[in-house]
Amino acid sequence: MMEVYHREEGFSRSFFHLTPEELAEIFKTADEKASYASWAIRFAADLDGVITVLSGMSILAQMEDNLSYMKDFVHLSESEKNALAQAREALAKIPLIPCTSCNYCAKVCPQHIRIPEELKKTATALS
Ligand code: SF4
Repeated sequence: MMEVYHREEGFSRSFFHLTPEELAEIFKTADEKASYASWAIRFAADLDGVITVLSGMSILAQMEDNLSYMKDFVHLSESEKNALAQAREALAKIPLIPCTSCNYCAKVCPQHIRIPEELKKTATALS
């Protein structure tokens, strides 16, 4: 998981690792050596107003990968932005949160969170 803190808007956003085949193909065609995480992290770091990108790392290889492109950060090129635009189009075709509103999880949530409603709001905000 990756979190982004936006200086002016003062919010933190989380993005989940998601690499369906079509997205993987787009990224590998654009740069076969770049990790999927690098696309997400560089996208976030390239946005105006973003001063910090926090990446959840659990193994040394992930930290080494992050450092390889963030130590001397280079903004996204036009071709990289085009690849990300293609990925965004492919991603828009995938149902982000396929919740059926069965309410099973909400019935047992110890924090009494209305999970289906929150997922609907999240899906709306992301669409
Ligand atoms: S309501 Fe909860 S358990 Fe049911 S589909 Fe949605 S997320 Fe899954």
